[in-house]
Amino acid sequence: MVPVPTFPPHPTHAVTNKTAADSWTIADANALYNFEKWGGGHFNVDEKGAVCVNPRADHRSIRLLDVIKEAAEMGLKPPFSIRFQDLIRHRVERLNDAFAAAIKSEAYEGEYRGVFPIKVNQLREVVEEIIDAGEPYHYGIEAGSKPELMIALALHRDASSLVICNGYKDDEYIRLALLGRKLGKQVIIVIEQHSEVEAIIRIAREEKVEPLLGIRVKLVTAGEGKWAESSGEEAKFGLTAPEIMSVAEHLKKEGLKNALRLVHFHIGSQVPNILTIKKAVVEAARFYCGLVKLGFPMGFLDVGGGLGVDYDGSCTAYESSMNYTVEQYARDVVANILEVCRSADVAVPNVVSESGRAIVAPHSVLVVEVFDRISKTMIPPDTRKSAKDVPVIKELKDILANKRKLNRQERFHDAGQKKEEAYSLFTLGYLDLAGRAQAEALYWRICQDLRTPEPDEDFEPEELGILDKLLAEQYVCNFSVFQSLIDHWACDQLFPVAPLHHLDKRPTVNATLVDITCDSEGKISNFIDLEEDSRPYLPLHPLDGKPYYIGVFLVGAYQDIMGDLHNLFGRVNELHVFLEDDEEDGFFIEETINGSNVCDLLSYIQFDERELCRQMKRQIDDATKSDRVKPREGVRLQNFYEDLLKGKTYLKPRLAAEAKKKGK
Ligand code: PLP
Repeated sequence: MVPVPTFPPHPTHAVTNKTAADSWTIADANALYNFEKWGGGHFNVDEKGAVCVNPRADHRSIRLLDVIKEAAEMGLKPPFSIRFQDLIRHRVERLNDAFAAAIKSEAYEGEYRGVFPIKVNQLREVVEEIIDAGEPYHYGIEAGSKPELMIALALHRDASSLVICNGYKDDEYIRLALLGRKLGKQVIIVIEQHSEVEAIIRIAREEKVEPLLGIRVKLVTAGEGKWAESSGEEAKFGLTAPEIMSVAEHLKKEGLKNALRLVHFHIGSQVPNILTIKKAVVEAARFYCGLVKLGFPMGFLDVGGGLGVDYDGSCTAYESSMNYTVEQYARDVVANILEVCRSADVAVPNVVSESGRAIVAPHSVLVVEVFDRISKTMIPPDTRKSAKDVPVIKELKDILANKRKLNRQERFHDAGQKKEEAYSLFTLGYLDLAGRAQAEALYWRICQDLRTPEPDEDFEPEELGILDKLLAEQYVCNFSVFQSLIDHWACDQLFPVAPLHHLDKRPTVNATLVDITCDSEGKISNFIDLEEDSRPYLPLHPLDGKPYYIGVFLVGAYQDIMGDLHNLFGRVNELHVFLEDDEEDGFFIEETINGSNVCDLLSYIQFDERELCRQMKRQIDDATKSDRVKPREGVRLQNFYEDLLKGKTYLKPRLAAEAKKKGK
């Protein structure tokens, strides 16, 4: 029988600076995972150590484990996105209330007419919730493409709210926008390229519609953070001052002076520093006043997106954070426009913002289940017989036992040297496989040992700081980074990550999370850390054969929609959760959306389910005819294949299956 490799128990010493295992409290969990800092009042840990969501940032709390349990009863398993619809409403209200308060406190004579940029999350239930929550505020929609405009026109009902059309436009896009005008909607076509003007004038004449137009200005004020390239002189969108003058002249000449109503800018998403926003608003307000002075009626200044999300909770100008609140943002936008308009003696515009990330990021939690773990500290089967006489093994054993009474740093150096020696001996054929296995295992045991300071040690050698990273385990999680966290892979965006339960116990295992794609980049190995900005592992709990759930938070913006089909995993299951006071646990799952089936995904890439089944059947029939497969077995194989085609793409949890088998 092949000996089964065993893992030593997970290290029991603390991974935080507290050492007594029993001193762990919920407050420690809060401090470690920072729920209160990045959670904005929406996330906390209950007395049982489970993560709860407060969709409206009030006393009503939903335990995520209860949602997972109810989903399981409905036959849905992680990975899934849990959407808190009330949280979306709360964000829409907060933004609109913030602008209303700013307008009141600054005695500003214009109004706020925000729009939701559909590109940030196009899911119907999300867009509908936003439109519904925004109705009292005349909150509108922004589209960046023809398909998005088709959604916007169909869902938009409020004649007092705006539909803003950004992005590259062909004749059909322009005609569609003008169709919206015919229906009495305030559809504003934003001129992003000089070449669009001719087409807009021509199609407006053909359709006999008076268009409403805006101009996207190319500000020199550059954005900041990961998405700063949307602004500055190299930006791909917007008109320069000479181009704006030329468009202005052209519109006047064509008798369309009254059409120009809006100035728009967008300096990039997730602007961490309020100073950047202030500067951009002032520059754009100057463009606005300039166009008023050229005789255009105007009326709207659109400050685009960029309102941040404090992903790390540090409240700083670091790229994962923001050094301002939604309320401060609104106040600064309003106050700066007011100041510029006053100084130019121009009536203030209505303010438009296209905040997407800030509206939808917090509402969605990605729940993943740990499927397996990869540890360097595996103890190989007994190898003493083959390796006992090899000096390098003996020396490693001596280092482990610290026979020479060396300090930790010296032992670390010696162990590294001996490990290299063992590798060379193996490559040259002087150490067999069992010997190499033992050398490696000893090396990692020494490293584990070196993590605990000596009693008389008065300083921590800097070099040994690497040990936590070297020894971090890999928790294999049933999801795809490329599908569900594309910005983490594509631009190193950090998201808060935390276990969803056991937070009343000290997490004693440092681990990175790896996904199930066959791509070594499919991992999360960079986590938020308020002291160091980021850290290469996350303290987690040891696995005990029962399901272990991890949440990735604030993922409701961009991640859903930009994910790709790497390895054909496709969309995860979705749960749409509402608060419900009458329900025992305070919530109900209003809707579930099944994640991708294998055959759905195969059809995207032109594989026909029936054709695949036919081809399989032909091969199974041949195998049956040649007696390689018995007929009954052939039928079973064919059924198995066909069932898998209808089945889910993600893995069936192995830990849970094993626990079930063992009757746990
Ligand atoms: N408006 C425009 C023109 C954009 O390109 C974007 C996204 O980058 C947004 C609005 C949304 O930005 P955010 O999600 O930062 O609010």
